[in-house]
Amino acid sequence: MSSVEFISKNLSWLPKGVSRVIEKNMQKIPAVKKLVAQEQAGITDGMEHSFKPYHDKFERHSALPATGIDRTKILADIEEMHQLESARWKDGYVSGGIYHGDQGHIDFLNRVYALQSQSNPIHSDLFPSSTKFDAEIVSMTANMLGKGKTSESANVCGTVTSGGTESILCAMKTYRDQAREERGITAPEMLLPVTAHVAFEKAALYFGIKIVHIPMADDFRADVKAAERAITRNTIVIVGSAPNFPHGIIDPIKELSDLALKHGLGFHTDCCLGGFVLPFAEKLGYPVPPFDFRLPGVTSISADTHKYGYAAKGTSVVLYRNEALRHYQYYTATEWPGGLYMSPSLTGSRPGALSAACWAAMLSMGEEGYMRATKAILETAAIIRKGVETIPELKVIGNPLWIIAFRSDSLNVYEVLDRMTKKHWNLNGLHKPACVHFALTLRQTQPGVAERFINDLCESVEEVKKNPGSTDGNAPVYGLAANLPFRGMVTDILKKTLDVFYRV
Ligand SMILES: *Cc1c(COP(=O)(O)O)cnc(C)c1O
Repeated sequence: MSSVEFISKNLSWLPKGVSRVIEKNMQKIPAVKKLVAQEQAGITDGMEHSFKPYHDKFERHSALPATGIDRTKILADIEEMHQLESARWKDGYVSGGIYHGDQGHIDFLNRVYALQSQSNPIHSDLFPSSTKFDAEIVSMTANMLGKGKTSESANVCGTVTSGGTESILCAMKTYRDQAREERGITAPEMLLPVTAHVAFEKAALYFGIKIVHIPMADDFRADVKAAERAITRNTIVIVGSAPNFPHGIIDPIKELSDLALKHGLGFHTDCCLGGFVLPFAEKLGYPVPPFDFRLPGVTSISADTHKYGYAAKGTSVVLYRNEALRHYQYYTATEWPGGLYMSPSLTGSRPGALSAACWAAMLSMGEEGYMRATKAILETAAIIRKGVETIPELKVIGNPLWIIAFRSDSLNVYEVLDRMTKKHWNLNGLHKPACVHFALTLRQTQPGVAERFINDLCESVEEVKKNPGSTDGNAPVYGLAANLPFRGMVTDILKKTLDVFYRV
């Protein structure tokens, strides 16, 4: 047993504060430091094998080739990688990841990208098409999410960003700057449900905002009473998800946003996953609680076009209730020798081609296309949820629509995950509580996928019941990472994993 395993197995009961002090002092002992470093190196070297499968298949380039390589050869290599990789997701074995995936749709987006690959919205004089695409993407999304439905939602506006994370970073920066300007707040705090996306934690770190966590209530939704108790004079924004990433559950957005309204705070609905599903689910008659700008307290929303909007990867939308709020997101410079400068979001140059492909995806889908896609996904999800519920060892978390998370009181759910991985499935392992989730996309609406999933899940559960504790797979690593009281060690391993990605 390594020392990391020993600590994880025997010291996981240590209170957080105590383990932080022990860990800090341990690192001061050179011998301990060396041992830990050695073990971590062992762990990351082991990773190299799984993260770098092309080491022996394709030539490696650590420096520029002396002369250019023939384009046909480069294309052939990329083509081969594409073939190897698409086999994983085409048949619906992957949770999330690929949201549309039909070849005709992909070919169409690629053609649009090819036509626009040189465009850049920062040169709006050269590429007025880019500003047209961006403006219309934002307007179409705003109209889906409640713009103009009430007298207070007539001026909803926003910007296009590179993804959900940037949308969230932009919104949190906006609230920080608004609070500093309008309320003189210099030590801002955000109220964040523990189930909210980690991009909010990133935003807090980048922009110097203190996070006050809101726990889950018994129904796994954010606890409104706890939120109310956590409000201070420095609170700038409350966050809710519709739905959240871990369990696919929609927070009590109405209650939380009413609270924000009552206290004069911002409220952000994270609709990165739900923005292009919930409006259509509601029209189809599914029980969708209010979550968008029809609620008077909601002041901003993030919605990912590159997820269920079926655009190519690299676009998202952040919306604000009015232009005054959006102005806090903008960056402008009037004194730079490079000239007058303005940019709406975090990036400078941006790929206009991705805006074009996003715009084209939205136009080609239309409301009818999104309704059809949503219906197919929700019907498949109902089959899968029912299937999971028939397995006595598993428990569905909360009351989800199309992201189904399950846990187990009698089995190690990570061992079930390992068995599913052996049967080609690519599901997400989550912790706090330990569970596995399956985010359904159009890939799983293909005939037979839901039935195959349930069959394999039943088999996997039986296998784990017959042979619990088998260690060939990732289950021990999940257990280790979840129970290691020294979180600094886990952090180090994550950082070294990223280093492995950048090894040639
Ligand atoms: C995916 C996701 C995000 C972040 O999006 P990226 O596009 O990966 O940056 C934020 N919130 C939720 C609920 C998500 O599912």
